[in-house]
Formats: sequence, C-alpha cells, structure tokens
Amino acid sequence: MRGKVFLVGAGPGAADLLTIRAARVIASADILFHDALVNPEVVALATRAEKVPVGKRHGRYSTAQAFINKRLIDAARSHAVVVRLKGGDPLMFGRAQEEIDALAAAGVEIEIVSGVTAALAAGATLGVSLTQRGLARNVAFVTPRVGKDEAVSDWASAVLASDTAVIYMGAGEAQSIANTLIARGVSPVRPVALVESASLPGEAQHVARLDQLGELSLRLGGGPAIIVLGEVLRDKLTQAQELPGANSAPLLRRPA
Ligand code: SAH
Repeated sequence: MRGKVFLVGAGPGAADLLTIRAARVIASADILFHDALVNPEVVALATRAEKVPVGKRHGRYSTAQAFINKRLIDAARSHAVVVRLKGGDPLMFGRAQEEIDALAAAGVEIEIVSGVTAALAAGATLGVSLTQRGLARNVAFVTPRVGKDEAVSDWASAVLASDTAVIYMGAGEAQSIANTLIARGVSPVRPVALVESASLPGEAQHVARLDQLGELSLRLGGGPAIIVLGEVLRDKLTQAQELPGANSAPLLRRPA
C-alpha cells in the first residue's frame, strides 16, 4: 500500500468552519471521495484531486457502502493522499467504523480529522449553550434512524435520560418523534428547536413546544435539519411566543 486514507470532517456546511488541518489535507488530496451533503465549496478546495461523489443523503446505501470501502482500498493502492470527506464530524452518524474496519483489514493507514458536528453548529445558530449550569449537565446525540438490517434502537430512552437532546436525521418524522416522546412521558411543553442548514446561506431556526414539533416541521425547506430539545431553549421559546408572527425565522433571531 502506498497511500494513506484521511477520514475528514467537512463540518456542517460553511467552508470556513473546516479545521485548518482539514483544509490542508483536502488541498493535498490526490483523490477525494465525498458525501452528497458536503458543500461544493469545500470539495472545490481539493484543487489537485480527482473528485468522486459517493453516498446518498438518506443513508440508504448498504450495498454501496461495501463498494465505497473497496474504492477507498483500491485508491490507496494508486494514490498517496486519499481523502474521504464526510459532513460534520466523520465519527458521528457517518458509518465511519465500517470504513475504518475495512481499511484496517486491508492494511491501509488511516488518519481521522475531526469536524464540527451538526449538533454544535445548531447550538451556534440558536445562540444557546447546550449545557447550562444548574439546568443541563449532559447532552445526548441520538438518531431514530436505523439501517435496513439493523436492530431497532431505543433512542427515546436516551432522550428521556438527557437534559438536552439533539436528534439527527429526524426532521422528516418530527410528528412521530414528538408523539413517541410525549407517550414516553416527556412534557409536551418542553421547548424544542428545528435548525435547518446550520452555517449555510439557507440557515433557518424555528422554536416551539414539543407538542407543536410536527406542525413546526412544515416550515422546513429542503436543507438538512436537526432537532434540539431541552429546557436550555426556554428563553428562546418565551421570546418566540412574545413576538408577533412567532416562529417566522428572522423574528427568532436575538434582538441586536
Ligand atoms: N456526520 C454528520 C451527521 C451525518 S447524519 C455530523 O457530524 O454532523 C446527517 C444529519 O445531520 C442530517 O439529517 C441532519 O440531521 C444533520 N445535519 C447535517 N448538517 C446539518 C446542517 N448544516 N444543519 C442542520 N442539520 C444538519
């Protein structure tokens, strides 16, 4: 094997949220494999590289995953710097372990470059700390999404046990998430936010009560969206309710 594979976090979207290390590695890539979610501006930083789009937005690619693994291994045979670019952080809900295991089994050297995960970018969009003294001492990152042959995950228990919960890949089933959580005993008036396209030009945020989450999700456009749930959003919710035309995104921005 002559090459090394870098699993690189592309961050939530904005190109300038890349780490300096990620930008350097991308610029030095000979070949770059990227997810559909990755901003084209970030991909464009790989000026020397052959660019290969892989993967689908909604993770329905269990056969393709084996193919991606194979392509990475093959690429390491003929290229010095192979970059596998994933949205956010590569180690969060990105099937990175399958790639790490396949590369390790093939004797390929791997380096992981962290990125800003969507949960943290969403916190920044909201302008709210996900932990707060006396209010939130833990944060759960969960997803209700499971792969085709995967066992059902008890994501709701993790949400119930956490002060702040961030739910990835859930915006499309917001109503059913709210129903499940309320049925499991979460207060229907718990504040919840939907953050869409955090750090990107189409960024939007919507805040309401958990029992309004389904309705709230109808305001989403087509960008990636994430759910944040917890008392840390109480002040945001109060502000949103006090404002006329509550929940239209621009009105939810903190007054300057
Ligand atoms: N590895 C990525 C997550 C991949 S799962 C990370 O660390 O962020 C894809 C999910 O991430 C989307 O369904 C959405 O819930 C969330 N997501 C990714 N980018 C986002 C963005 N810019 N704004 C809001 N949510 C985002």
